[in-house]
Formats: sequence, structure tokens, C-alpha cells
Amino acid sequence: MDFIFVIVFGGLWGSFANVCIYRFPNNKGVVSGRSFCPNCKIKINWYDNIPLISYLVLGGKCRNCKKKISIQYFIVETLSIILFTSIYYKFGASLTTLYLIILSLSFLIIFFIDLKHFIIPNILTFSLMIIGFIKSFDPNLNSMFPNYINSLIGGIFGYGIIWLIIFIYKTIRKKEGMGLGDAKLLSAIGFWFGWVSIPFVIFLSSIIALLSVIPSLLKNSKSMSSQIPFGPYIIIGTLVYLFFENSFKSLLF
Ligand SMILES: [Zn+2]
Repeated sequence: MDFIFVIVFGGLWGSFANVCIYRFPNNKGVVSGRSFCPNCKIKINWYDNIPLISYLVLGGKCRNCKKKISIQYFIVETLSIILFTSIYYKFGASLTTLYLIILSLSFLIIFFIDLKHFIIPNILTFSLMIIGFIKSFDPNLNSMFPNYINSLIGGIFGYGIIWLIIFIYKTIRKKEGMGLGDAKLLSAIGFWFGWVSIPFVIFLSSIIALLSVIPSLLKNSKSMSSQIPFGPYIIIGTLVYLFFENSFKSLLF
């Protein structure tokens, strides 16, 4: 029964994430007005705005103008449900789960905005830094969360290491490889999970990035220097770390 609640909850917040992904880069308020079709501008009725179900019922098209609705809406809602249920499955009904749900929802929004626009909105990374730091004062959360000293070092370490990579890359290649948005994102992750998480996340996201670039390198459709947003890889790397943190640490220590 509680899982049904988590699924519905995940779908609804996935819908909200879709609104943020659409509106943040265009500097539109999130709460202003209701959703409308980006093509014909007609207001979308509540019964055409039910997560996943409406997309399937309407066959992925606007009821009014029949313009195709991006599959991204469906994917974001599905991912949101998967994230919510797996967090609930692993961490149960706890404050830790609530925190991780806030984190994963922000991740979902950052992931798609960075993928499409090559930017990571400061409002999201700064909010995550603050929440990550504040929660480190609560000793009753899951033990994977750091204390406030570790959290602060993690935040500085995360920012510093990407800043250093950017600096070195700039000096050698005379152009920018990553953006400061990546530095702020990794800083937020440091605040959330402490400094130990940073090398793990960098390692994991680099491996995932390499693996995903290899097929297109082989086909020669993308050269190594063409721009790829790194934020999405940092996010996948962090999620892998989050769910397998214990196995990683037991391998090492
Ligand atoms: Zn329409």
C-alpha cells in the first residue's frame, strides 16, 4: 500500500520536475499559471495532465492541435517514480528518505536542463549546498551523511577540484573543458555526502562518461573535443555512489 503512495507521489513530483525543466532556462516562474501546450498555447485540463497515464491515453499528442508531446515528459515522470521507489525501498519511511527525495528531484531537473542547454541553474546548486550543509547538523540521519565539518570540507573540495581541472585544461588547451556549473554541482555533492564521496563520484562519472562516448568515437561522429555536458554524468555517478556506497567502501577499507 505504501509503495502505491510512493509511486503516485513520484509521478506527481515528476510532473513538477517537467515544469521546472521547461521553465527554469526560460526564466519563467514555476508557479505562474497552469501548464499549456507549447505549440497551440491552449491550457491543459487536469485530466490531460495526469503523470504517465495522460501521455499514454493521448498517444503522446496534444488533444487540441495533435502536435507531438516530447517523450521527455514521459521519461522524466518514469525516472522520478523509479528514484522515489528505490530510495524508499532502501531507506524506508525516514527523514533520510525525505532528504534524498529532495536531492533526486533536483538531480532530475539539473540532468535534463544541462543535457539540453549546457547550463546548471545556480538556484538549484546553491539550494542543494545549503540543504546539504544544514542537514549535517542533524545526528539522527543515515550514517552515510557526514557531520558538518566533513560536509564543509566536502563542499570546498568538490568545488576546488573541478576548478583545478578547468584551470589546468585552460592552460594546456587554451579553452574551457568544463564549466563552473559542474564545480558548483560537485560542491553540493560534497556538502551532502562529505569529502570521501568526491573521488568516488569523479571516478564513477568519468568511467560512465567514457563508456558512453566510446561508441560515438568509434563511429567518428563526435571528436574528443566536442562539447559534452558533464553534469548528467556527475549525477549518474552520485546516484551509483548513493546506492552502492557500502560496497565501495568495503572494497577499500
Ligand atoms: Zn496543442
